[in-house]
Amino acid sequence: MSRVYNFSTGPACLPECVLEEIRDEMLEYGTSGQSVMEMSHRSKVFEGILHETESTLREIMQIPDNYKVLFLQGGASQQFAAVPMNLMLNRVADYINTGNWTKKAIQEAKIFGKVNVVASSEDRTFSYIPDLTDLPYSEDADYVYICQNNTIYGTRYPELPDTKGRILVSDVSSMFVSEPLDVSRYGVIYAGVQKNAGPGGLVVSIIREDLIRDEVLPGTPTMLKWKTQADADSLYNTPNCWAIYVCGKVFKWIKNMGGLEVMKEKNEKKAGLFYDYLDNKSSLFKGTVEKGSRSLMNIPFVTGDADLDKAFIAECDKAGIVNIKGHRTVGGMRASIYNAMPYEGVVKLIEVMEKFEKEHA
Ligand SMILES: *Cc1c(COP(=O)(O)O)cnc(C)c1O
Repeated sequence: MSRVYNFSTGPACLPECVLEEIRDEMLEYGTSGQSVMEMSHRSKVFEGILHETESTLREIMQIPDNYKVLFLQGGASQQFAAVPMNLMLNRVADYINTGNWTKKAIQEAKIFGKVNVVASSEDRTFSYIPDLTDLPYSEDADYVYICQNNTIYGTRYPELPDTKGRILVSDVSSMFVSEPLDVSRYGVIYAGVQKNAGPGGLVVSIIREDLIRDEVLPGTPTMLKWKTQADADSLYNTPNCWAIYVCGKVFKWIKNMGGLEVMKEKNEKKAGLFYDYLDNKSSLFKGTVEKGSRSLMNIPFVTGDADLDKAFIAECDKAGIVNIKGHRTVGGMRASIYNAMPYEGVVKLIEVMEKFEKEHA
């Protein structure tokens, strides 16, 4: 067996010890005589898995009691519609546009009401987080929407906007459980788990209880009403049991390591090493994001020459470094260094970069 260093934006690498545990439980989970994949979602055993996954997440994120945790399907993209359907009662919402994922969310919200883009960084290919002071929020906005870590462009909010009491909704897909968040500052936080916590097809939505309402927009399908899902404890229909199980293992791995403060330190150490190389050591490679807006998770970088980029990506492949090609709108490369990417993976990547740089000086 030879495992690669997978720098993919998602689905992404998982902690090897978690994969091993899952392998060991593949044919029989506990003393159930069956795999989690084969189990009834209404069985006592699976209920135990679901509750443990939720309670571990609540513990590591310190989620206050007045927030519900929902395990839903349709990925983060489905929440682009669920958010306005559940919250846009005045049919007005404010969005900050920081990349493709907010563009998609905006497009979806426009189906349901008026969308005001109160700030945007599109003028410079989303390479920064806009200035958040005194934004022109709408008087009657049902919520203010942000994407807190922009997977494609490699930006992350250095701080949260002051929404002046308006409900803050945040897509945290690519920074989920990578650092502590003050949950009480948000109305809704959601994340597709395939970036940082598990396999694809599961979205975790953390929603303040008073926002889980009977009154939603007319025409909202039963499945998209947060109330339906909350009342059924995420078991209205068959959930993605397998992904919930794997996430539970990953949350426990984080807890055992010391929690999100420790996770953040590890992530800062990895990202710090890489940014230091780009900023201070390399004369060939450079980062594309403004310093105050940089992500700890996704780091786009370029040589400035498309042919060299291509040659470098081929060199990476040979060295067992995969999925490092950048998004077509940025070009170049992108290293996604989520929780499960070991420090050694970043060291290895830098070694390959150094070697490439020498050979192409
Ligand atoms: C990946 C990603 C999504 C889309 O997730 P799906 O689960 O594939 O729908 C949405 N937002 C952000 C920030 C992402 O990184």
